[in-house]
Amino acid sequence: IDTAGLEEADGESLEGRMRQQTETAIELADVCLFMIDARAGVTPMDEYFAGLLRKHGKPVILLANKCEGSAGQSGLLEAYSLGLGEPIALSSEHGEGLGDLHDALVPHLDDDEDDTIAGPDKPMRLAIIGRPNAGKSTLINKMIGEDRLLTGPEAGITRDAISIDWQWRDTPIKLWDTAGMRRRSRINDKLEKLSVADGLRAVQFAEVVVLMLDATMALEKQDLTIADLVAREGRALVLAVNKWDLVEDKQAERRKLEEEVARLLPQLAGLPIVTLSALSGSGVGKLMPAVMKIYDVWNRRVSTAKLNQWLEFQIARHPPPAPSGRRIKLRYMTQARARPPTFALFCSSTRDLPESYKRYLINGLRDDFDMPG
Ligand code: GDP
Repeated sequence: IDTAGLEEADGESLEGRMRQQTETAIELADVCLFMIDARAGVTPMDEYFAGLLRKHGKPVILLANKCEGSAGQSGLLEAYSLGLGEPIALSSEHGEGLGDLHDALVPHLDDDEDDTIAGPDKPMRLAIIGRPNAGKSTLINKMIGEDRLLTGPEAGITRDAISIDWQWRDTPIKLWDTAGMRRRSRINDKLEKLSVADGLRAVQFAEVVVLMLDATMALEKQDLTIADLVAREGRALVLAVNKWDLVEDKQAERRKLEEEVARLLPQLAGLPIVTLSALSGSGVGKLMPAVMKIYDVWNRRVSTAKLNQWLEFQIARHPPPAPSGRRIKLRYMTQARARPPTFALFCSSTRDLPESYKRYLINGLRDDFDMPG
């Protein structure tokens, strides 16, 4: 994440905007690279940001840039005074010090994916997104307010720059703070522009995304664009169709929705759809079980042995095509990663394998290993 430099910030709200952006970046990051201009020495602004970083407690690597030649020497020494450990002398322009930076980053690489599954110290990251007025804030208030584990409306809930810590049954959850982001974007007077960027950031933040639709105008182009974005970013998706209280023929509407989702979002076949009324609370209780179920699918692993047995069966049932007389051979399959389940298939002449055959395999995986959505 590249935060805005000073020169990109404007007039009045300069400090506020930089601070907001920086805090969001810190919150999202596994490690922060804090860069000062060694030729300019440590400035009050550097000290301000150093304080912010210390407060958050994320790992920090301090970079003293523009250190080529000797003009950066005194700035490099001064950098120790920031209290963020030993600075790395760098010249971005000349590519000096990148090896040291690499070495400093290595210990922060997280190579064990399973670590990140929600548990006592790893909350599940959840975002509720959707167009303005879909009812996101109403829903979040309903969900958090109704939790029986809580004694008061705010007890056990803490807010940081971008999320709310919450708990659903035994699962700790970090909930993207939609309303909080909006409060801040109002201050910046750039509501429209920020709400799009904010949606993107929410998707990047989240493991599971709840896309909230307004039942009275569901599945418009913008909703489809967001759903597709969520799929391409590899997040788990649940569709929440709100204001269901306003729908008259619920059965017919439900059928229509399912038909439209299947037709317009084939890349998400089996996507869970929850109809609810955030206002009255009706149906809200179905949402979190659907979220947990798709989260489980999103984390699923299938053994290589099972996959290859399955592949043999699929080939026997429906052999791959033989363009220009030679049948494409599907050799071997493995799950390359989870979150979301991602599979690698090794075959002869990959490029000739038609989309329709890939779809046949993908849909087969969805059905046979119970991985809808
Ligand atoms: P947000 O912009 O997505 O956060 O939407 P809000 O939560 O602020 O809700 C927008 C408007 O829709 C408010 O006037 C809510 O009272 C209303 N609203 C929210 N949920 C429902 C619902 O389930 N049924 C009905 N009829 N209105 C709702």
